[in-house]
Amino acid sequence: MRGVDDPTEMTDLPTDLRDRLARRFAPSRPELIDHRVADDGHTHKLLLRYADGEAIEVVLMLYPKRATVCISTQAGCAMGCPFCATGQAGFRRQLTAGEVVRQVVVCDAALRSGQIGEEQIPRDAPDHVTNVVFMGMGEPLANMDATLATVNWLHDPDGFNLSARGITVSTVGLVPGIRRLADLGLPVTLAVSLHAADDRLRDDLVPINRTHPLADVEQAIVDYRAATNRRVSIEWCLIGDVNDDDDQADRLAAIARRLRSHVNVIPMNPTPGVQWKEPTARRTRAFMARLERGGAQATLRDTRGRDADAACGQLLASYTLGQGSRLPVAVGAAERIDREAST
Ligand code: SAH
Ligand code: SF4
Repeated sequence: MRGVDDPTEMTDLPTDLRDRLARRFAPSRPELIDHRVADDGHTHKLLLRYADGEAIEVVLMLYPKRATVCISTQAGCAMGCPFCATGQAGFRRQLTAGEVVRQVVVCDAALRSGQIGEEQIPRDAPDHVTNVVFMGMGEPLANMDATLATVNWLHDPDGFNLSARGITVSTVGLVPGIRRLADLGLPVTLAVSLHAADDRLRDDLVPINRTHPLADVEQAIVDYRAATNRRVSIEWCLIGDVNDDDDQADRLAAIARRLRSHVNVIPMNPTPGVQWKEPTARRTRAFMARLERGGAQATLRDTRGRDADAACGQLLASYTLGQGSRLPVAVGAAERIDREAST
């Protein structure tokens, strides 16, 4: 059988090969420890726990002609962005390529069977995975081997056979990783999480900016585009009274114009232990209008699965809180920005 990752189920292989593979690559089946459903069964958020106790999130988003899986590449994340639930929990460990690939396989198998956990898949959804986004927990370009192996497998006609255009890798802006991804020579969509349009603010919102400042990230985007012929998109998590002012909008519009990038604005999902939140609807509209006036192409993204804690790391965060343990919340940066704003 194809599309399985347990060698004992690979019935199109000879039995002795199956046995040998099973001995070498005994899969550690993750356990489904939580499953949240939102948007009338069109968003499924799964919390999977591996044998060593580490848990990660996978989100399946269903549309009439699209089934997108949002996958995780690390348990936790070392980048420490202060608005992100995964960033708060710190780095736990890298996922192996097999563990990343399996997230897609699990969702694909669910779509083919018409059922995910106890839930029926809505009838209007496709019967297989059509898109994969690396936007779950972790920084894909800080786990380069697993990310490249997964991209190769997703794209390989003998693997998952997905068009490179159906694959999106989201990064916080790790310049060497962007260059290595470009070297792959596949037109994979790259999304860069900018969140701030000058180094002073970005140093706080995206601490890795101190190592890879905006100018270097911009140059890497220009080069990625030249190498792959693909436009790079910019992600902007809109945080009330932090990065939602006219000055940031004007600077962002200038960057987007220079890079010919589309901007995806995502109102911040509340994160346990972090006092920041999304801006008011009025401020959000004003920010979008300002971007447009500045000549940027921008879309305000829906916050799909909000009732399923669907932003990065949030299901794990709420699960952990529900268990009564506290998250090691790093609110230092948040407090600093708030202090500066109020002086
Ligand atoms: N580490 C990568 C990919 C995973 S995060 C990256 O940062 O790009 C995927 C996206 O979710 C990023 O754009 C990130 O900024 C965004 N995100 C994280 N926390 C969020 C929150 N609380 N609300 C909205 N978006 C959030
Ligand atoms: Fe890591 Fe991305 Fe969260 Fe930043 S936003 S802490 S890079 S997962």
